[in-house]
Formats: sequence, structure tokens, C-alpha cells
Amino acid sequence: MKWPFLAGAAISFGQNQNVASHSGLRTYSEQMGSLSTIEKLGILADAAKYDASCASSGTAKKNSIGGKGVGSTEGMGICHAYTPDGRCISLLKILLTNHCIFDCHYCINRKSSNVRRARFTPQEIADLTISFYKRNYIEGLFLSSGIIKSSNFTMEQMVETARILREEMDFRGYIHLKTIPEADPELVHQAGLLADRVSINVELPTDSGLTRLAPDKNARQIEGAMGKVKSDIVETKDARKRFKHAPRFAPAGQSTQMIVGADAANDSDIMGKASRLYKGFRLRRVYYSAFSPIPDASAVLPLKRPPLIREHRLYQSDWLMRFYGYQASEVMQATDGDGNLPLDIDPKLAWALKFREQFPLDVNRAPKELLLRVPGLGVTAVQRIVAARRHRTLRLDDVGKLTVSIAKVRPFICALDWRPTALTDRADLRALLAPKQEQLELFAS
Ligand code: SF4
Repeated sequence: MKWPFLAGAAISFGQNQNVASHSGLRTYSEQMGSLSTIEKLGILADAAKYDASCASSGTAKKNSIGGKGVGSTEGMGICHAYTPDGRCISLLKILLTNHCIFDCHYCINRKSSNVRRARFTPQEIADLTISFYKRNYIEGLFLSSGIIKSSNFTMEQMVETARILREEMDFRGYIHLKTIPEADPELVHQAGLLADRVSINVELPTDSGLTRLAPDKNARQIEGAMGKVKSDIVETKDARKRFKHAPRFAPAGQSTQMIVGADAANDSDIMGKASRLYKGFRLRRVYYSAFSPIPDASAVLPLKRPPLIREHRLYQSDWLMRFYGYQASEVMQATDGDGNLPLDIDPKLAWALKFREQFPLDVNRAPKELLLRVPGLGVTAVQRIVAARRHRTLRLDDVGKLTVSIAKVRPFICALDWRPTALTDRADLRALLAPKQEQLELFAS
């Protein structure tokens, strides 16, 4: 057992232990019997593991006076996320409940799924969060939920959790609330006033996929909710420019998650959708979650999960669009004939191999935007090249010091002492640069 303090009386759980006291949940409560906190934690942390969108990049640094500093541990319900400055922070990642009135085919928590159910009260989650925080196990909370009774009822419970934490417990740590698009926009607004980040899952890359696999959800409603969050973020930012004490609204922005491989959408569909979401709703992140087969899966789902490396390639394509100046249409040019990104090489290399006429680029003269397209050169390496070449003319060795693999870079650049000549056009260049097969298999497993 990872949380010995939960076994004793060290935690006090307020007044809301009796889930049956909530109207409409008596049957559920009777069905569940009484579960200990550790049992609920086990069920609801495990149920939350399918949600990938818990990284906290982009959060503002907070005043943690009264907090206990940074801590990190492994255990159920803890996920790790990285901030832009490289700090690893831990979040309690949990569902309010895995009970749900919806029946999304890909979800283990769907109405028709035969899983053990549990539910926390807002007070219990707030108490758990504070207890874990004070023990330095976590620095924040990622809270999602199945839908109990109604979307509004569930959203109220999530908002109440954040309210208790912020207002009654003066919690200044990170809170990410997964909001419910069908809920009253006012409730989503309240969530944004309390949380650092809010997210709404688009779930699937295409509307037809959503209709087929999540019949209770509606693409227009999901995007409408995202649009409202976006305008709330913009309005509160404007207000804060004029009024110092205007409230913050989701200062770490909004994000979403797409499931990969549960329907027939190819990588071009996924990248196109991600690009529209970034532009239309100014999302901080789109997360890609490779569909994983679940027990008692619906017959409409594929039997096999897509290779994990497909998810990784999509994240790489996402980075190309966000940090390397590629348009979605350009990354799509890196796909194979079936619209999917190659699995054996990364999308930047795939694009460069298709457009070899753009290379080699002279590292001493080429503009930064073009150098960012050289396979093997990251954003930091390009910045350093641009800074260094102001003072001297760079040799291949100088570039080699800035990259993990100069072999990958060499065919695409010129330097003072280096010209790739025929190397750039070699027919077997892809085979030369692709990672060795065994490594790929290890990575994909
Ligand atoms: S609404 Fe969420 S929790 Fe409920 S079945 Fe759909 S994906 Fe699962």
C-alpha cells in the first residue's frame, strides 16, 4: 500500500462521506456498498489513467507561501508533468467518479461497462489533495469525471471541489479541471475562475467518428464550449490589463485530447483537426492518446491498439506546427500514400527526404526559419548556430557539438569545411538515416 497515512485516522473527511445523501445516487450507493478511501482511490486513479491531457506546461508560477515546497513520489493517482522551465511536477490525477450515464464505446467507464464503480465527494478530493500536497507527494490536482445524474450536476461537483480547495483551504497549487461540454456555460466559467487550466476533450478527429463512437456527444457542442472558454480567457486577459485585480480565468489556458486509432481517421485527419483547434480556439496543447483496447470492448472498436510510436509521431508533428513553423498542410506532405506518417522515421526527416531540393542549407547563411527544417537540429541548436555565426564561420564540428546525431544533419547542411555533394540525393539515404529496426521495435513495444 503506497499511502500508509490513509489507513489510519490521520485524514479527516468532512461531512460528505454518505454519497447516498445526494438525490438520485441512492441506487448507486446501495450498489457500491461502502468503499474505503483507499479502495476508491485505487478505482478512481486507475480509471483516470486513460486521460493523457494532464501535463501542466504553461502554468504561471504561483506564490506558495504556506505550502511545503516540492515533492515527488510514485504511486497510484500521481502523474508527472513538465513545466516549460523543465521542472517536473506531480499531480494527483483522479476522477470524481467512474460512474457515467453516457456510453462512449472506447471508454472503460461507459454506462454499459462492467467495472467496479466508485465516487468521491468534493470534500474528500479536496482533503486528499491537501493531504498529499502537505506531504510533498503532489503539487496539484488533475480532476476529471464520468457523468453522474446530469452534466450540470457533475460539473457543479467539480467546481465545488475546486472552490473548497481555493476558498476554504487556500490551496495555491495547480488545478486542472476537465470540463463537460454539455454543462451550463456558467458552470464552465466558474471552473475557469478557480482552475489554472481547463480542458474539453474533442475525443475523436472526425465528426463522423464521434457520432459513431460517442453517440451521446456532439461535435458542435464541444467546439461551442471551447469557443466560450477561449472568449472568457481573452476577456479576462483584457480586463486584467485595465484592472489589476480583475479575476484570472484559466491562466494556463485550455487543452484537449484526441484518441488515436479507435476510428478510421488517418494522421492527416488528426493533424488537420489539431491545426484547426490551435487556430480556432488558441489551445495550449492538443494531446494524442493511442486507443487502448479495454475489457469487454464494444464490437465497433478495433481489436488491436495502434502502435505507440504512431502517437509519438503525432506529437512530433504537433511540435513541428507549434515550434518549427510548419503549416499543417506541410506536415501532411510528409505522410505516406495512406495519409499516415511513416513510423520508421520522424516527420521532419520524412519531409526533408521528400523535399531534398530545399537542401543543403548553409549553416553560416541560411535564415533561421529554414535551418529549423534541417533534420536533427532542434530549436535550441538553431538559436545557438545563429548566435555563434555572428562571431565566426562555423565548421561541421561546431554543429556537431549542438546536436545528438551529426550523421542525421550532415546530408542537409553545408559548413565551412563540409559539403554533402551527392549524399543529399542518395537513393538509400532514408535507409542510412532510419533508426535501426531493433531500436524501433523496442520503442514501439
Ligand atoms: S462521457 Fe466520458 S466518462 Fe462517460 S463514457 Fe464518455 S468518455 Fe467515458
